[in-house]
Amino acid sequence: ANYIFCKECGFVFHCPRCSVTLTFHENDRLLQCHYCNFKTGIPQTCADCSSEVIRFNGFGTQKLEGDIRQAFPQARVARLDRDTTRTHDDFASLYQQMTDGDIDIMIGTQMITKGHDFPNVTLVGVVHADLSLNIPDFRSSERSFQLLTQVAGRAGRGDIPGQVIIQTHNPDHYVFNFVCNHDYEEFYKTEIQFRKRLNYPPFTRMVSLEIESENESLAEQLAQKLKKMLSGKITRKSGIELLGPSRAALYRINNKFRQHIILRSSDVHALQLILKQCGSAPEWQQFSSGKAKLIIDVDPVNLM
Ligand SMILES: [Zn+2]
Ligand SMILES: [Zn+2]
Repeated sequence: ANYIFCKECGFVFHCPRCSVTLTFHENDRLLQCHYCNFKTGIPQTCADCSSEVIRFNGFGTQKLEGDIRQAFPQARVARLDRDTTRTHDDFASLYQQMTDGDIDIMIGTQMITKGHDFPNVTLVGVVHADLSLNIPDFRSSERSFQLLTQVAGRAGRGDIPGQVIIQTHNPDHYVFNFVCNHDYEEFYKTEIQFRKRLNYPPFTRMVSLEIESENESLAEQLAQKLKKMLSGKITRKSGIELLGPSRAALYRINNKFRQHIILRSSDVHALQLILKQCGSAPEWQQFSSGKAKLIIDVDPVNLM
């Protein structure tokens, strides 16, 4: 997902209600919260320091490889990502080269942190750590903490301690302090307060109802109908909060437009009940026809 950030201070625009990163939609020239559908125009300047803001739309490991080869012409450089490492054999070969000491610099995506421990790593550099921090998901801090501590755990060889350098536009973000100190307990204490304040799991349970269709306006219409239907069943007593509908952060996948509604409540039985009530109503059929599909996810691991 794309977002907008400040070149100078790293400020990123967040939803005032949900505190998730606002997603940048190029066609409509607006920033949008994909949880609650909050919208705002593209700001010209940073809300924090008034500097120019730019859009972030990813960067490639390929580009990074080029830069590194230029900076270290003598080094033997290898790249581990989905393009270079398609099969298990590709991976095994890279792993063997690392073990044999035939690679000086290994460049990789998150793939590098998963699975195998690469031997002989004494220095780890995390380039643009903001990427995972700014994923529009309420768990982005937790995921970043996991990722960075995992990466940090990879460095070190025998008696030689490893060193980790993290690049970020937001060095003051609380995650980094805890990563540097390997302080899981303190990270937990801070993170859990944030979750409580904004009513996120584990204090609530969530259900995501996603409508996807190749027909953009049909997806919108159905999402509105779905909202109406759900709202009609939500009583004050049930304590259910309905967010959206809004575009999913990854709005278009495989040519299908995705709209979603989020239900949230501390009472999982109330959530189950409303799904059951709606699911048995005849109108429910319209959400899954040949032209559209409704996907229900209870406790979604990914809200993108
Ligand atoms: Zn700024
Ligand atoms: Zn929001």
